Amino acid sequence: LRGSKAARVMPFGPDSLTRVIAVTSGKGGVGKSTLTANLAVELASRGLTVGIVDADVHGFSIPGLLGLTDAAAAAGAITRPTQVGDLILPPVAFGVKVISIGMFVEPGSSSAVAWRGPMLHRTITQFLTDVYFGDLDILLLDLPPGTGDVAISIGQTLPHADVIVVTTPQPAAADVAERSGIVARQTGQRVIGVVENMAGLVQQDGSILPLFGEGGGAEVAKRLSAAKDAPDVPLLASVPISVPLRSGGDAGMPVVLSDPLDPGSVAIRTVADRL
Ligand code: ADP
Repeated sequence: LRGSKAARVMPFGPDSLTRVIAVTSGKGGVGKSTLTANLAVELASRGLTVGIVDADVHGFSIPGLLGLTDAAAAAGAITRPTQVGDLILPPVAFGVKVISIGMFVEPGSSSAVAWRGPMLHRTITQFLTDVYFGDLDILLLDLPPGTGDVAISIGQTLPHADVIVVTTPQPAAADVAERSGIVARQTGQRVIGVVENMAGLVQQDGSILPLFGEGGGAEVAKRLSAAKDAPDVPLLASVPISVPLRSGGDAGMPVVLSDPLDPGSVAIRTVADRL
């Protein structure tokens, strides 16, 4: 980020009126970013002012999920940050202010971001301090999967943040998902709930095919609740496997807007209701 001032105050500190919710997972590919993008759009559609920081620096996918693509830019949309004086203004998609490392990569390039810890920390800190979000009701952070540098860095920078853990129904995924919740707690963050994603495929006859097993979300919630002195961690929702949810992500059109009756949309609204 060019033109930024190092000394600016972090606007999302403990005194801030913005609720910060970090979305984490034990491993990649469980739908963390898809859920974060849809949840943000759902909350914005309810009249809240919402921002997303895509902190998944190695695997950023939020811009594409929200249609902030090179193709949209070619059609005249503002898909990248604009600089006004020393302010960096984030682009807005479906009412959500969005910043992502993907917006600082050359258009059309497939260059990988191969940064180590200190660089990642600096970039995330700059996203939080130098990007002008204005007064937000909710800031969602899409964390990288696992318990690496960024998760720890965010935990130290935003120790008052709430955390949602996303997992699949596979019992084997529960271990790594639980660990990401434990690391969040170690930095002082509060785990407010678990979302189980890819929880069964609803078939034509109404029966449910548990493609990825069953019970993983409830198991992670149970284990995180059972830790010593831990508050109760609820399973916020089980989001089924949904073709419209997937294709909406591919098309950059969130399913909660395009297909509100889809079971995936219904489950995401349940998460929003329970925040
Ligand atoms: P993560 O952020 O955890 O790496 P993504 O959000 O990128 O995961 O999702 C991984 C893939 O799974 C994407 O192709 C996405 O469209 C798909 N996906 C996510 N959730 C669902 C779901 N409930 N049903 C069907 N496909 C899903």
